[in-house]
Amino acid sequence: MIYDLYNYFNKKTVTILIYFSSFFRRLKFKSSFYFALLLSCIFGVIRLDLYDFLLAIPVITLLFQIIHNLILFLDLKKKTGIKCKLCSYNDSVLLYPAKGKSKVDEKGSYACSSFDHGHYPNIYFCPVCKNGFLETLLEEKFQQTKEEGHKLYEEVVDDKYVENLEARYVTYDKITDDYADFLKDKDVLEIGSYYGVFYEKAHKVAKSYKGIEPSRHACEFLTTKHPEANIINNNLEGALQESQISENSFDTIVLWDVIEHLPDPIQTLRKLNKLLKKDGHVIFSTINMEASFALALGPKWPWFMDMHYYYFSDRGYVDMLHRSGYVMLTHDHFKYYVYLSYFVEKVFSLLHIRFNFSEKMRKKLQVKIPIQLGDTVLVIGKKEELT
Ligand SMILES: [Zn+2]
Repeated sequence: MIYDLYNYFNKKTVTILIYFSSFFRRLKFKSSFYFALLLSCIFGVIRLDLYDFLLAIPVITLLFQIIHNLILFLDLKKKTGIKCKLCSYNDSVLLYPAKGKSKVDEKGSYACSSFDHGHYPNIYFCPVCKNGFLETLLEEKFQQTKEEGHKLYEEVVDDKYVENLEARYVTYDKITDDYADFLKDKDVLEIGSYYGVFYEKAHKVAKSYKGIEPSRHACEFLTTKHPEANIINNNLEGALQESQISENSFDTIVLWDVIEHLPDPIQTLRKLNKLLKKDGHVIFSTINMEASFALALGPKWPWFMDMHYYYFSDRGYVDMLHRSGYVMLTHDHFKYYVYLSYFVEKVFSLLHIRFNFSEKMRKKLQVKIPIQLGDTVLVIGKKEELT
């Protein structure tokens, strides 16, 4: 009994220490300032003293940055033998231990609008390139993860996504307008054209559009609606092997919410580099695990999940682009538009509450709302000639 209690508290202490370290190891100066501001406001209200409030902001920011650097220093001293999948650094550290039971073999778990949150294998963090990745990518499991991933993406049927298409069109209409310089009158390739939300607008402004999409259902949906759409039902490797796409053919290659699902994003970006013309651009959107919102939610951040193999950070995707033959032009936050009904369902699912709208209520909540929590980014890299 005493031994059990000791074990229980010991385990709890270790978990708390891991959570504490993982919060601070990702805490950049900007986030330190935001959290310091929040704590200073609370402190200022309790003390009702403006001077204390103003003094607390720089003191807490500085303290947070000292802890951040101390943890990174200790991380770099650890010898774990866990090789980073992106930069090959040999001693990645545990970011969060595995949570819940994996459901990767269940149909629908790899759908974009999957509600399968709250379970993942061990997540590791690389103190050198500042990216995170799943345990399932480690040497002995890599091939199996890659093959299972290919198969699951081919079988994806995402009815929830289709229900919300109208709201999603708004997101990509806006992106197409905001980044018109990279799309208007350009030869565009999209990796993961899915149900065609980007295609709808892009094919009207681009000089030519080609899409690659492994999901049979998504391809059928898009080509039934637009028989003229140039969509290859394959994954990138297959399309290259079968010469369905050729080198130096595209001005811009886009990957919307795709790169975190790829088993080897550097290798993919290098392949894309060859498909780009001289001075071409790659544009991708992804999640940022160093955003203040992600830090505040810790291990409960909803994007920590089985189907996201990688967790990039502001510093991490700069490093990844550099290693793949690109220079980073810009990275911006952007708004996602979703239906209010979808958003409410998602929140309930994250709280593990089963909830179903009546059809009447769902119709009432078909209002498009913008979501911008700072944890989604759009990154643009310019091709550098690989030697
Ligand atoms: Zn690394």
